[in-house]
Amino acid sequence: MRKAVGWILLVIAVAAAVVVAVGFSRNRADGRHVVAYVQSADVWQARQRLLWQEIGVVYDAQVAQQERILQMTEAEEAADVAAVEAGDHEAMIRQDNREDQLVRSVIAGVDPTIVAQLQPVVELAWPLAGPMMVTSPYGERMHPIIREEAFHRGIDLRTHYGSPIVAPADGVVLYIGRKTAYGNMIVLLHGGGIATVYGHLWKFTVQPYERVQKGQLLGYTGNTGFSTGPHLHFEVRQNGEPTNPLEWLPPIETTE
Ligand SMILES: [Zn+2]
Repeated sequence: MRKAVGWILLVIAVAAAVVVAVGFSRNRADGRHVVAYVQSADVWQARQRLLWQEIGVVYDAQVAQQERILQMTEAEEAADVAAVEAGDHEAMIRQDNREDQLVRSVIAGVDPTIVAQLQPVVELAWPLAGPMMVTSPYGERMHPIIREEAFHRGIDLRTHYGSPIVAPADGVVLYIGRKTAYGNMIVLLHGGGIATVYGHLWKFTVQPYERVQKGQLLGYTGNTGFSTGPHLHFEVRQNGEPTNPLEWLPPIETTE
C-alpha cells in the first residue's frame, strides 16, 4: 500500500514538473512572439519600400514629405491648444480650418506616380457596413460644439461605438493620425483625384502608404476630437476640395 502511495506521489510530481516546464516554454514562446511582432513593423516598412520601388515611388521620401507637412501644422496649432481646450470658439474654428489645410496639403503632396496607378472612381460604397443614420448633412450648418454657422465638409454617420469602417473603393492610405478637431483620422486616396476622409475614430487598422482594397477594414468608429457622440465624419474630396458625399454614394436602403 505504501508503495502504491509512493508511486502516486511520483506521478503527481512528474505531472507538476511537466506543467511547469510547459508553462515556461509557453512564456518563452510568447516572448519570441512579441519580438517577432516588433520586427514585423520593420519588415512591413521594408516590404512597402520594395512594393513602391517597383513602380518608381520612393517610400521614405513620401513619408518624410508628410512629416514636414505635419510638423508645420503642429507648430501653428501649439499656440492655440490652451484656447481650444478652454472652449474658445474662434480658436476652435482656426484649428478646424488648419486641419482642412492639412488634408489639402497631404493630398497635394502625393507622388504623381501613386496617383497615376489608381483606377478612376465613379461611385463609392458606404464606409460603414452596420446600421447607421446620416445625422448631419454636407454644407452650411450650426456646428454642434462651436455653436456657430460653419461649413460642414462631409456628412456625419451616427453608429455604434467601435463599428467597422471599410474602404469605399480601392486606394492608398495617405495619412493616419490624431488631430484636435478631427480626432483620430484617416485620409485615403483613390483614383481620379478623389480622396475620402474619416474623422473621430476610435482606432486604426491600416498604416500610412498601405494599399487597400474596396471593403477592407480601415478602423473603428469612436468619439475623438470635436465630437458629441460616437459617429463617423466622412468626406469625399475632389482634387482636395470637399464635395457632397451623398452624390458619390448609392441611395440608402430604408427599412420600415
Ligand atoms: Zn462631421
